[in-house]
Amino acid sequence: MSARVMEGKPVAQAVLDDVRRRIDALADVGVTPGLGTILVGDDEASAGYVRRKHETCQQIGMASFDVHIDAAQIAAGANQDTLLQAVHRFNADPSVDAFLIQHPVPDGFDFSEALTRMDPNKDADGLHPTNLGKLVLQEPGPVPCTPAGIQAMLEHYGIEVAGRSVVVVGRGPTLGRPLALLLSNRGDGADAAVTVVHSRVPDLAEYTKRADIVVGAVGSPSVITPDMVKPGAVAISGGITWEGRTLRPDVDESVGEVAGWITARLGGVGPTTIAMLVQNTVAAAERNRASRAS
Ligand code: NAP
Repeated sequence: MSARVMEGKPVAQAVLDDVRRRIDALADVGVTPGLGTILVGDDEASAGYVRRKHETCQQIGMASFDVHIDAAQIAAGANQDTLLQAVHRFNADPSVDAFLIQHPVPDGFDFSEALTRMDPNKDADGLHPTNLGKLVLQEPGPVPCTPAGIQAMLEHYGIEVAGRSVVVVGRGPTLGRPLALLLSNRGDGADAAVTVVHSRVPDLAEYTKRADIVVGAVGSPSVITPDMVKPGAVAISGGITWEGRTLRPDVDESVGEVAGWITARLGGVGPTTIAMLVQNTVAAAERNRASRAS
């Protein structure tokens, strides 16, 4: 492979080093930031993501709170109302500065409705419509974690974004769409010319081959192949798929023979996502502390 590999861990570490200093400053005034998670169902990959979020909180000196509506509870009658009650409890709990609902939720549960019932000030994932609106308007607020992690990764590796052509494959609400907004906004680490393509575009390569930076935001293994990438371009797998215990990125590993940069198959964008989640939670704790003090 000739491409240089972008690892997520050093990017996440740099974010977490800064966050740790802010947690120490909050500790000095008696505040411990708290993250809440709501997991619905027993999906193994989702449970693993939630576990890693709690482990990171513990390692960095934050509190974390877990609600798990498991398959047995669902079989016994737990439903959308149960999920909404959990959302209301976290909204009202002063120990929880920010929280998330792990996506996806099983059939019979409405993720979007639960999301809109969250207090937008406690939105750890930056996916509440109010916060997505702030992203559009370029107002301060929590930014969706995976897009923010990808932007931090580009900055960390010194990859210029301003004025360059970025093609995002996928237009989903958690990744493709917010990433396109973030990188096309004005400011540092942004100002790109962004094109979004998706499943209804017949010839993806027509767009991706012209891109300086290609991002897979699909969640379909090897949807981006070497013939779709310009020599020397940057190829990022935001979308990933677990096949058993094997992680399959959106960008096929053989793209490393053509690209200038490629994300690591394991430990690529994932660690940066968790770091951004922690950063959003600490920012919420700082805001909550400021509003209590005023
Ligand atoms: P989503 O809502 O399911 O969106 C997937 C998008 O991919 C859709 O826009 C779909 O097009 C498009 N698509 C599907 N098949 C395609 C194909 N063959 N060619 C081109 N486009 C295709 O997903 P999401 O919630 O935005 O998340 C996307 C992925 O991000 C997830 O699968 C997950 O792997 C990943 N993710 C990663 C992390 C991380 O920590 N690394 C965190 C969150 C999410 P249509 O709109 O036309 O259907």
